[in-house]
Amino acid sequence: MLNYRNNRLFVEGVPVSRLGKRFGTPLFIYSKKRIEDNYNAYRNAFSSVKNLICFANKSNSNRALLKILKNLGSGVDITSGGELYRALDAGFNPKKIVYAGIGKTEAEIIYALKSDILMFNVESIEELELLNRAAGRLKKKALIAFRINPNVDPHTHHYITTGKSGSKFGIPYEQAVAFYCYATTLENIEPAGIHCHIGSQITEVKPFLLAAKRVKKIIDELSLCGIRIRYADLGGGLGIRYRNENAPTPKGLARALSGVLKGFRGTIILEPGRSIVGDTCVLLSQVTYRKRVADKNYLIVDAGMNDLIRPTLYEAYHDIVPAERPARAKVRLDVVGPICETGDFIGKDRMLPWLGQGEFLAAKCAGAYGFSMSSQYNSRTRAAEVLVDGSKAVLIRKRETYADLVSKERR
Ligand SMILES: *Cc1c(COP(=O)(O)O)cnc(C)c1O
Repeated sequence: MLNYRNNRLFVEGVPVSRLGKRFGTPLFIYSKKRIEDNYNAYRNAFSSVKNLICFANKSNSNRALLKILKNLGSGVDITSGGELYRALDAGFNPKKIVYAGIGKTEAEIIYALKSDILMFNVESIEELELLNRAAGRLKKKALIAFRINPNVDPHTHHYITTGKSGSKFGIPYEQAVAFYCYATTLENIEPAGIHCHIGSQITEVKPFLLAAKRVKKIIDELSLCGIRIRYADLGGGLGIRYRNENAPTPKGLARALSGVLKGFRGTIILEPGRSIVGDTCVLLSQVTYRKRVADKNYLIVDAGMNDLIRPTLYEAYHDIVPAERPARAKVRLDVVGPICETGDFIGKDRMLPWLGQGEFLAAKCAGAYGFSMSSQYNSRTRAAEVLVDGSKAVLIRKRETYADLVSKERR
């Protein structure tokens, strides 16, 4: 989706510098084709089993992107009432929505029950009991999966490790059967699934395999007590290549899991976020100033940590490339934003041309946890988003205005 032609950087058939001039910067630029290809890779990889791919809305919840996925037949994994609203607003079939989250409020649970979503991924007894009472009042039966914590180490950043003991998520796998037995005693609960999600940006298949084995073992134990699991939801978490990672493909994941899940007759649910949208987008910015301090070189750009917080929050690496690349000597430099924090950087110690004021540069792989984690910190207006489809580009989210910054506040 991203390539140089005559030394100009293109997303599909459109030069990014043209989009920068037309829509301004900072600007998130997405490739429609890449989103479709990434989704289809999952569908094809798991085509030999019943499957439901539920895109993890929290990685990117732009309505236009959700509609692309909906039109391909995707479901959604939501983590809040707001994400449910977005999924319904984008036209998703509620029966393709699964709801994760350790702290669903009563209002959120009622909203999801009234919307007739497919399944609640439950993480505690108190949540289960609240769900049972709420479903009873609405005269509904709630399909549930328990999110189990399989205690496997996914070897990723500790902030995005979620399936190891000591994490706040899920219930310990050793207690799963007891939880299910209790669930069968509740009138408005139907235990129909099992769920786990062990972390994010996972670059090997082994942790998925270990988790799937634990899940399968519980499914087998439950079937001995007459509890039939119809949905095995293995979460998301497949990594992508930001720098030099060799993350497994959906096909590699499917191959690794095929042995363990042989004999499971139900539907496999997956909840990929990053691996669907991560590599479909660049964050375009423009050089505001250059400066040299204490023999360090800085390119000060107009995108900051409010637009892309991953570098400072997760020590994440985003490759940065110039939008135009005539042959120029490279220097070692930091690409930093305008915000009053030392943690405000896009990339450190990069070899890049000493670009001039006004030149464009692109941070790659900004599609997942980029815009969705952006904020107005420093009272910066949130960036605009553009979708490229072949040689066409459409604005899919307007740049916020200064008036937006104060619109909810008391006059
Ligand atoms: C965040 C999250 C996902 C998506 O993770 P990715 O790494 O973006 O694929 C899936 N399921 C749950 C429950 C999550 O919290």
